[in-house]
Amino acid sequence: MIYHPEKYRIPDEAMKPFIDISEIETILRETVSTPEGVRKVIEKSLQKNRLSLQETAILINTTSPDLIEEIKQGARKLKEMVYGERIVLFAPLYIGNFCSNNCQYCGFRTENKNQKRITLSKNEIIQEVTRLEDSGHKRLILVFGEHSLYSPEFIADSVKTVYSVKSKNGEIRRVNINAAPFSVEGFKTVKESKIGTYQVFQETYHSEMYAKLHLSGKKSDYNYRLTSLDRAQEAGIDDVGIGALFGLYDWKFEVLGLIRHVNHFEAVYNVGPHTISFPRVQNASALNIDKNYLVSDADFTKLVAILRLAVPYTGMILTAREPIHIRQEVMKFGVSQIDGGTNIQLGGYSKNNAKEQDLNVEQFEINDTRSIGEIIAELVENQYIPSFCTACYRLGRTGEHFMEFSVPGFIKRYCSPNAILTLAEYLEDYATNELKIKGYELIERKILELEETQNVEILRERLIELKDGKRDLYF
Ligand code: SAM
Ligand code: SF4
Repeated sequence: MIYHPEKYRIPDEAMKPFIDISEIETILRETVSTPEGVRKVIEKSLQKNRLSLQETAILINTTSPDLIEEIKQGARKLKEMVYGERIVLFAPLYIGNFCSNNCQYCGFRTENKNQKRITLSKNEIIQEVTRLEDSGHKRLILVFGEHSLYSPEFIADSVKTVYSVKSKNGEIRRVNINAAPFSVEGFKTVKESKIGTYQVFQETYHSEMYAKLHLSGKKSDYNYRLTSLDRAQEAGIDDVGIGALFGLYDWKFEVLGLIRHVNHFEAVYNVGPHTISFPRVQNASALNIDKNYLVSDADFTKLVAILRLAVPYTGMILTAREPIHIRQEVMKFGVSQIDGGTNIQLGGYSKNNAKEQDLNVEQFEINDTRSIGEIIAELVENQYIPSFCTACYRLGRTGEHFMEFSVPGFIKRYCSPNAILTLAEYLEDYATNELKIKGYELIERKILELEETQNVEILRERLIELKDGKRDLYF
């Protein structure tokens, strides 16, 4: 049977499901991958075009080690072209782990009686944020279980509390959310608290596997979950993040599910999601999944490169779930945002034993427990510019107007200088002497590179102002 898009494609309509299992399975089964085909697809992506499901399947079905290496090299080139050498840094902050769902992969699920249930009080949130600010963080993602305690109003209040905390020169300038999806009205309430990105992961796009893994609770409704971010859009949240939890079902299917989700957004809202997340399942208390679908390191690094090529204009987030060597590898060819100094225990940032993991107060195990200082030192060593930039979001450059991609030269004119300014701010306020010296050396090298194509006079003036004590300078 030959695949006919018109036969399979479910029309894209706002708030209507759009995944057709047989469409994705047919594409995976029927797409043949040849060396010429793979090279043609990489070339198309390097022209900054999004790939179709079939083109993505050509990359997915490649098994030759040499061609996989070419895919990774292509992703690396694309990442350098589109994103430059910036890596945006953030930290997760878990606010509450009560949950009425029963997701078989998650330590927070309602049936897990070993999990100690905690919701941070306002004072505890303030303590946690103070610790995070004192280590240099400017961007947080707040994480919640799904429970009637965590209403849109509660989430909005938590966001406002976070923004209100100011410690020394520190402040949080962007709060993203990873929480249960709401109705359009609920999303509007959360939006009013001035959030950045709202993330909702589909976990698995395969509805039959989804049903097996989500046994009860609101999240067991696959279609309600699938259309979550449509409702967010309808509520005016145009900055959204999608994701799949890799290891629940065949990774190839999930990659095409993610791409189909991007298509849906572009077809209906004229803008793709801002970010894609691709967490791999980690050990968790009461973990109860079919381990046959766990994704190997080789497949994982391949799939990150494929995602990069398939959606050139979507930010890609990698978390401390992954061990250091995998973080280092995939950062080269795909990722634009990572977390640092991560602690996912409820109240963990304020505790002294922060590094000891305890699965009874956390959702899953993490594999990179380095401090933010250590992560920044490594980034600087490897010539990345660590960035805490929040300029676009604060200047309203979001959604359809993701300027960074639509305006030629935007990244060089705005993103790179802003990354440099936020790094300098970090160096002034939080770095060791050794890191400060290395950080300013990197800044000087990067300014010389910028100088080849643009005027850097104002950037240099702003760096002097920062050294004189001014803060929060951006373009
Ligand atoms: N409760 C909300 C929800 O389910 O959408 C908020 C997000 S949950 C706290 C954050 C994400 O963690 C989930 O969407 C899931 O993808 C991921 N997650 C859950 N269990 C995991 C595990 N064992 N290993 C890695 N990631 C996991
Ligand atoms: Fe609850 Fe989210 Fe965990 Fe599911 S993934 S049990 S909804 S916290």
